[in-house]
Amino acid sequence: MPGGNHETELEAAERRIRNIPKCGAAKLARMEQSFRDLLEAIGENPEREGLLRTPTRAAKAFEFLTQGYRQDLDEIVNGAIFSSDASEIILVKDIELYSMCEHHLIPFIGRAHVAYIPNGKVIGLSKVARIVDVFARRLQIQEQLTVQIADALMSCLKPVGVAVVVEAKHLCMMMRGVEKQNSLMKTSCLLGCFKDDARTRSEFLSLLKE
Ligand SMILES: [Zn+2]
Repeated sequence: MPGGNHETELEAAERRIRNIPKCGAAKLARMEQSFRDLLEAIGENPEREGLLRTPTRAAKAFEFLTQGYRQDLDEIVNGAIFSSDASEIILVKDIELYSMCEHHLIPFIGRAHVAYIPNGKVIGLSKVARIVDVFARRLQIQEQLTVQIADALMSCLKPVGVAVVVEAKHLCMMMRGVEKQNSLMKTSCLLGCFKDDARTRSEFLSLLKE
């Protein structure tokens, strides 16, 4: 497309990078220093070749993994809420989820399933995944993450009900060899009609199984 204003791959990548809410240079430098200290504390030599840039890379990784702290929910959903007279369950299943356990700073990974019944308003599907990320990219415990996703949808859409199920494997359990190598933790948060109405709840559960 010569002369068109089509975004190139590079431009798209840079735009995505720019959209990561930054910590700022001072905080990044503090994180780098912390990672250098950590390397020394475990008996490593931060000056050896393989580790020279590790504090910088680890600080940037942490900046990315905690970007949810610096994101604004309203900004994310802005422009993606539409009027609708739909009144059935809308379910977004199998949203990939990567978060970090606040007790060990070790990842937990899994999937989120998010459902709601609209009350005049629906939200773009991709935004549901963005909402999951806003809360997953923080230090978390799974129970709280599940509730926060549900609360966020409740507050953005004022739907008739919201249901969120998160299933995740916690590397802090698996890697540290606490017997439960393959355990999958499941948490749920049901609000509105999903909580109050047994039929809606069982319809949701059977949709999940499909
Ligand atoms: Zn943990």
